[in-house]
Amino acid sequence: MRPDLLKYRQIAKIFAKSAVVFAIGLTSAQVLAAPTKPAKNDPSVTVIEHVNVLPMTEKGDVMADTTVVIENGRITSLGGIVPKGARRLNGKGKWLIPGLADMHVHLLSDGSPRPPKYPTEAPTMFFDTQDIMTPYIANGVTQLVNLDAVAASVGQRNEIASGNVLGPNIALAAVINGGDGRGRIANTPADGRQTVRNIKAEGYDFVKVYSDLDVATFTAIVDEANSQGMKVLGHIPEAFEGQLEKAFMPGFAMVAHAEEFSKQSADFSDADAARFARLAKQNGTWVSPTLVVMRWIASETRSLDEMKANPDLKYMHPLLQSKWTTANRYNRNSSPELIAHFDRMVEFHRRLVKALKAEGVPMVAGTDAMTSGVVGGFSLHEELELLVGAGMTNEEALASATRLPAIWLGVDGDRGTVEVGKRADLVLLDANPLANISNIRKIAGVFVNGRWLDRAALDALMADLAKRNEATKANFDFGKMGK
Ligand SMILES: [Zn+2]
Repeated sequence: MRPDLLKYRQIAKIFAKSAVVFAIGLTSAQVLAAPTKPAKNDPSVTVIEHVNVLPMTEKGDVMADTTVVIENGRITSLGGIVPKGARRLNGKGKWLIPGLADMHVHLLSDGSPRPPKYPTEAPTMFFDTQDIMTPYIANGVTQLVNLDAVAASVGQRNEIASGNVLGPNIALAAVINGGDGRGRIANTPADGRQTVRNIKAEGYDFVKVYSDLDVATFTAIVDEANSQGMKVLGHIPEAFEGQLEKAFMPGFAMVAHAEEFSKQSADFSDADAARFARLAKQNGTWVSPTLVVMRWIASETRSLDEMKANPDLKYMHPLLQSKWTTANRYNRNSSPELIAHFDRMVEFHRRLVKALKAEGVPMVAGTDAMTSGVVGGFSLHEELELLVGAGMTNEEALASATRLPAIWLGVDGDRGTVEVGKRADLVLLDANPLANISNIRKIAGVFVNGRWLDRAALDALMADLAKRNEATKANFDFGKMGK
């Protein structure tokens, strides 16, 4: 069973088959309405008064009834006086936390499903970057790691950085796989090293290793990335079966799914969970368990009812809504054995998180958003609930989506905590997430890229997005696309 490849190939195949037909449908739909852009009218100084601050620093206690001053997108004072002329927001009874990070997402980007035609052909599919980012912002997610970054992803990141689109900071990881699939392929150590140098030269932040690499090429990739000062994250290639310890070499800095470990276990035993945790700990490798993706895959393998009934689905691009519901590979390949297998994985992943915690392996929140059923933004809240369900404290779960991601990404001097001098990527909550992690869903407003969006502004953006997605669906019968 290789569910990871199932996912990967499912997406690739769907895109390849639907690209041309879809482009025609989208062109007419796009004429209907342009997305609402958030206004850029923030005054340069904003103050949140009487708010309870959860700084999420290592030893940071709650700062009750505090005044937070934000100037030009930075926190300039905690507990100080209110500057003259500042816009004042009432934070009484509310809780301020750092913006959240999803350390494992996939993002639609222009031309990602590009059918080969003529050498100079432009992409045939275009996606509005704001529409892709709005659900993240509305859910308080201000940092993403794109684990399948392509050339268009660099443009997406820049649209946000320039302020033309309101969205999270995005770190970009480019994939190297072995075998004969799509994308960057390396089947020799020399090719692996050259591909790492290409990825660096093209401006990506990280190297993502994938399942079909052979042992020698994987080893060369991690070694070269080390010399180039780039961290490696991703899958544990199948080739390491029976020699898992060889994958844990310096520079292999994060395993991107709990599933990478469960694939290496014959019996899903506690002894295996403890062994995996020790390997990660000894090598300084972090883990992003991404519990939520396997939870949804298991659900869809059983039945599509839960996914179809998910009210968050309407915020996904109609192409994905259609494909998740009409061409769902997990559901189509369902069998009692597969259902039982995925159920056992879901259960094993909880025990693996406990073992990783017991061993002291740092864990960060990731969701594999855009895999079928996993709706970006919302899925991070669900992941935090699942991490708590697997034995993390509420504080540990929050740290896995704030301070710890910033440390792994090497940006902890700039963000990830609520401290003077840090970026004002902030989420204002109506209730305390340390009392109940689900309070992370009670968002009163979000600060991102120096802009404040209150609940009404976030609701308006989301309602507009859902409305336009509906219009696109009505305008084109996605159900008739090739399957
Ligand atoms: Zn992924």
